[in-house]
Amino acid sequence: MSAGGEPYSEALSAAARRAAEWLASLPDRHVGPAQSAHDLAADFGGPLPEQGMPAAALVEYLADKAEPGLMAMPSGRFFGWVIGGTLPAALAADWLVSAWDQNSGLRYATPAIAAIEEGAGHWLLDLLGLPPDSDVGFTTGATMANFTGLAAARWRLLADAGWDLDGDGLAGAPRIRCFVGQERHETIDLGLRYLGLGRPIAVPADSQGRLVAAELDRLLSEGTGPALVCLQAGNLHSGAFDPFDAAIRVARRHGAWVHVDGAFGLWAAAVPEFADLTRGMALADSWGTDAHKTLNVPYDCGIAIVRDSAALRSAMGLQHTSYLIHDVEGPGDPFEKAPELSRRGRGVPVWAALRSLGRDGVAAQVRGLADAASKIGSRLAEVDGVEVLNTVDYTQVSLAFGDDATTRAVTARVIEDGKVWMSGSRWQGRDVLRVSVSNWSTDADDVGTAVEAVSSALAAVRAMD
Ligand SMILES: *Cc1c(COP(=O)(O)O)cnc(C)c1O
Repeated sequence: MSAGGEPYSEALSAAARRAAEWLASLPDRHVGPAQSAHDLAADFGGPLPEQGMPAAALVEYLADKAEPGLMAMPSGRFFGWVIGGTLPAALAADWLVSAWDQNSGLRYATPAIAAIEEGAGHWLLDLLGLPPDSDVGFTTGATMANFTGLAAARWRLLADAGWDLDGDGLAGAPRIRCFVGQERHETIDLGLRYLGLGRPIAVPADSQGRLVAAELDRLLSEGTGPALVCLQAGNLHSGAFDPFDAAIRVARRHGAWVHVDGAFGLWAAAVPEFADLTRGMALADSWGTDAHKTLNVPYDCGIAIVRDSAALRSAMGLQHTSYLIHDVEGPGDPFEKAPELSRRGRGVPVWAALRSLGRDGVAAQVRGLADAASKIGSRLAEVDGVEVLNTVDYTQVSLAFGDDATTRAVTARVIEDGKVWMSGSRWQGRDVLRVSVSNWSTDADDVGTAVEAVSSALAAVRAMD
C-alpha cells in the first residue's frame, strides 16, 4: 500500500509551525548564533540510537536543539558576506519542490519542472538583457554556475584549436591562457582548478577593484593561443563592475571567450538606472549568477547562462546513455546545462520569486538594496572616525576606523552586540568592516539600526582606549 498524506501531515504541520516561529523571531533576535557547532555536538552526535523517533517528535527535537546554533541570516539586520534572505513566495515554492520530489534532470519525465524552469530562464534572459537564445542551467550556487560557464569555454576553445577534449582529455592539449581581475572572487580560481586550467593571470585593478582594460590588452598581447577572460559584475568589497564594454572589445580582438561572474551584480541589469554599470555585459559568452543572493530564493540556487549551447551541452551532457530518453532537439534537457544529473527542481523558487515580484518588483528589490547601502554609507560617512572606503553605487559598503586594530575591534564589537551582523574582511591592504545589503526585507528601521550599531561600537571601542 502506498503512503497517502496521513503519515506526513503531523510532521509537516509541526515543521510549518516551527518555521513560522523562526521567521517571526527574526525582527528582534540576536543576529549571531548563541552556541557553536562544538556546543551542539552532543545533541546531534554520539552513536546512532537503536530506536527510531516519530517524524513529528523529530521535527520538534530538531527545531529545539538547532535554534541556539542558527544565525539569523534571513533577517533584515544581517549584512554579512552577500547573503540574501528569502521571499515568501520562493520559500513556499521550495517546500512544494520538496513535497513533489521530482528528479528534474529529464524534460519528458518531469514536464512541469522543465516548463517552470524554462519559463524562469526566459524571464531571466529578458530581465537581464542577455541573448534570448542562451541556455540557462540551474546549479547549486555561483561557484558551480561559473564552473559551468568555464567548462563550456574550455570545450569551445579547445575544439576551435582542433583538440578533441572529450576523446583525448587535457594532457597535451594547447594551454588555455586564463585572465582574471586582480579582485575576482576566489571561486573563479576554484572553477579553473576543477577544470585543470591552472592558475590564472591576474590583471591589475583600479582603486574600486575594477579590472583595467588596457592592462588586459597588454597581458593578452604577451602571448598567443586560446584565451579565456573572466570579468566581474559586483566586487565583494566595493560593489564595482568591470568595464565590460572596453574589456570585451579587447578580449574579442584577441579571440578570447569572455565569462562574467555576476553572483550578485548581474541583477543590476534589471534596473534601468544602473545601465552604466552593466553596459556591454551582454556581449560576453557566458554568465554565472546566484538566485540565493540578490533575488532572495532559499539555498541553494545558482544560474549558469551560456550563449553557445553546443559547447555547454557538450561539456555538461551525457553522450552515450541510451536509458535516458533525452530531448535531442529544442530546449534540451536540464541535465545538459548543469553539472548534476539527479537534482531537485531548484529553478521553481526562482520562477516563484520572479512571478511574485514581476519585472517592476525585481527592479525595485535590487534598487532598494542599493538605496539602503547608499544610506548606510552616507550616514556613516558623517560619523567622526568612520571612513567609507568605496564609492557606494551598488549594494556594498567597506568601512574602516583608522588603524586595522581599531577596525577589527569595532567589527568584533558589532558582532558581539548582535543587533546587526557584518563581515570583517581585508581589502586593498586594510582591514575593513564590510556591509552587504542583500535582503528584500531590510527596511529604513534596519538601516537606522545598522548605522547606530556601527557608531555605538566605535564609541565603545574608543572609550576603552
Ligand atoms: C558569492 C559569490 C560567489 C560564489 O557563490 P556561491 O553561491 O557561494 O557558490 C562567486 N562570486 C561572487 C562575486 C560572489 O559574491
